[in-house]
Amino acid sequence: MFLTIKKSVIVAVLLCLILMSGVFIMFFSVKPTSSPKLIHTIVIDAGHGGIDGGCVGRRYGAVESELNLAYSQELKDICEKFGFKVVMTRETAEGLYSPFAKNKKKSEMQKREKIINESKGDLLISIHMNSVNISTVKGAQVFYKKGNEEGKKLANKITDSLAKGGNEIKNSAVVGDYYVLNCTEKAAVLVECGYLSNADEEYKLMQKDYRKTFCENVFLGIINFLEISK
Ligand SMILES: [Zn+2]
Repeated sequence: MFLTIKKSVIVAVLLCLILMSGVFIMFFSVKPTSSPKLIHTIVIDAGHGGIDGGCVGRRYGAVESELNLAYSQELKDICEKFGFKVVMTRETAEGLYSPFAKNKKKSEMQKREKIINESKGDLLISIHMNSVNISTVKGAQVFYKKGNEEGKKLANKITDSLAKGGNEIKNSAVVGDYYVLNCTEKAAVLVECGYLSNADEEYKLMQKDYRKTFCENVFLGIINFLEISK
């Protein structure tokens, strides 16, 4: 009798272990490696840099180029953790322009374009912070190039994911005429993470936890885009 019970307990425990390992394998294989290609190359573009700091926060003096880099690096870490290859246009505080260039802005944009096109990336995420004269305006916005349907889908997925994840959204994905979006035909978006001209939002954007959640939501948007693009 004792032996029978013992045997059945062992069988039950073994069954549980088999089931649990099955669930474990399913969980880690379904998310997010079920994307169409096992390795996608994501180009992350931290806006501005060097002498071009971008906009500056009104209350706390947050510098856009520094925040762009911090958000880009956070997003890079998440993407790499999940097996994606990442190419960064800028990885230091230095600008991308040639030190000898007369027109630094032009030189910088040409370098950005070169990195984006040589990367053979599947999609591009350009990171920026916004600013406007009216201090009450706030929320993230995701831009795509007019006519770039893949960019539009990606922009919509990222916007949805940010909204569902509790990040402030200014409006739905919008068409934007930006150099980085115009220099590629791949799915490309420019994410304005929020307004440094709004004191509350500037403070939030400077917080490590907010940055982490924001970037996780951008990443989820990318995953959702890749799922529908299969
Ligand atoms: Zn900017």
